[in-house]
Amino acid sequence: AEGSGGASETAALRVLRKVFGYDAFRGRQEAVIEHVAHGGDAVVLMPTGGGKSLCYQIPALVRSGTGVVISPLIALMQDQVDALRALGVRAGFINSTLDFDQRRVVEAEFLAGELDLLYLAPERLRLEATTALLERGEVSLFAIDEAHCVAQWGHDFRPDYLSLSMLGERWPEVPRVALTATATRATHQEIVQRLGLEQARDFVASFDRPNIQYRIVPKRDPKKQLLRFLKEEHAGDAGIVYCLSRNAVERTAEFLCRSGVEAVPYHAGLDAGTRAAHQARFLREDGLVVVATIAFGMGIDKPDVRFVAHLDLPKSVEGYYQETGRAGRDGEPSTAWLAYGLQDVVQQRKLIENGEGDVAFQRRARSHLDAMLSLCETVRCRRAQLLEYFGQESAAGAAQVACGNCDTCLTPPESWDGTVPAQKALSTVVRLKRERGQKFGSGQIVDILLGRKTAKVIQFDHDALSVFGVGAELGEGEWRGVVRQLIAQGLLEIEGEHGTLVLTDASATVLRGEREVRLRKDPVPDRASGSRSGS
Ligand code: ADP
Ligand code: ZN
Repeated sequence: AEGSGGASETAALRVLRKVFGYDAFRGRQEAVIEHVAHGGDAVVLMPTGGGKSLCYQIPALVRSGTGVVISPLIALMQDQVDALRALGVRAGFINSTLDFDQRRVVEAEFLAGELDLLYLAPERLRLEATTALLERGEVSLFAIDEAHCVAQWGHDFRPDYLSLSMLGERWPEVPRVALTATATRATHQEIVQRLGLEQARDFVASFDRPNIQYRIVPKRDPKKQLLRFLKEEHAGDAGIVYCLSRNAVERTAEFLCRSGVEAVPYHAGLDAGTRAAHQARFLREDGLVVVATIAFGMGIDKPDVRFVAHLDLPKSVEGYYQETGRAGRDGEPSTAWLAYGLQDVVQQRKLIENGEGDVAFQRRARSHLDAMLSLCETVRCRRAQLLEYFGQESAAGAAQVACGNCDTCLTPPESWDGTVPAQKALSTVVRLKRERGQKFGSGQIVDILLGRKTAKVIQFDHDALSVFGVGAELGEGEWRGVVRQLIAQGLLEIEGEHGTLVLTDASATVLRGEREVRLRKDPVPDRASGSRSGS
């Protein structure tokens, strides 16, 4: 179906209204659709909920032949195809869940030109049988969904995606559109390069999600803090609570149930039936809370998720952005709430060091974590910092403009001159190293500063250090905050499995008194952040 620009524009709009029942395109949808419908390649960076699907579904309906959609989300293909069929779109999928006969039916439909859209798992394309099949039929376009999976240094790499570079070589005349909600410059470049999309047009939408309120609180008694957040602000709302481990997921879900919040667990250790049932309940019911590992949520389209809570620190800003992005797709006010503490950093560093990957990979993972930490400890607008990370400005305009809808904007953290405490903490690390040849974690450092004669202090004779007890002016929680922020500011570093602290190159300037250290004051324990109740 060729035609003038005007004609195909009308065709796209007609499909939008007739098939999908929407009145108007959103954001950059129309530009992408028109470009791809006319045979152009495209790289589409759009936040979760931005409406990426239509960017390939409509061109596939407008062009002759079948649009082939590569997606890693096998578990969702059936639902996606069912939803399209309900709209009268001729859609099918081929993945490992189909038996031989079912696959034959879909293949025959494709070859007969009876499919508008065909969903494929990326591993299928490694099979010669699949590429041969595609060559025998007519492909109108290739859509590569979750395209960031091709980025080796990203947080979600899938080796099968690397083979997708052959699409452009084997089908040079078929337009390709790569789509993702991950938008750092590095990931973007890697998508372009690995998929051979140098000639493609880039469509970059704003990543600002103004209806999401970002809040990050120091972790004290995480389950109790979470419960309070839910009861005070999101009673009866649907939401997702992310935990790092399966064990934590189970315990948190049980705790919420016992506390009168309807919650179900979701993680890879549950059998497929239970997972599917919990997911279906979440999609169907109004106020269910899913406590999950990050395995949950990718591709789930529930518009009225009112909050996303993290009880553990995400590994990267990209991950944080994607996970929190599952809140508020309907544009209504929603909350992204994260509780984080020093222990999270120690744990993540341990995971990196014990994990797979070569030196370069680990370095990359550490810098992802550092960026996340700096978002946690910032005294600036969280949204501005988040968008800057993605190389973007907030909707308000200049990047430095405060958004008015994050915790640091709503209750600006007081900052204080922490130079002296910083020097005390750093000298404790120095003395242990120089005088004793020892390294310790934050717990011991804080005990020494506070002058506590714990068993471990006595065992190592640390009460004889000149720094013993020099930190009585602050409490334990405050000292932990100091150490956390020194790490976030790159003035201390966590090393090794046991979370021992070591100096960095930058520490010396603080010890020599050449540099002031500004620290943020942690909010008062157990006061709901974001609201300043008169006291
Ligand atoms: P993404 O894949 O970018 O996360 P989706 O394609 O799943 O987003 O779209 C998110 C939601 O927005 C879906 O419910 C979709 O039907 C809806 N949507 C997309 N485009 C439009 C539009 N032009 N008008 C109204 N709703 C839309
Ligand atoms: Zn802000």
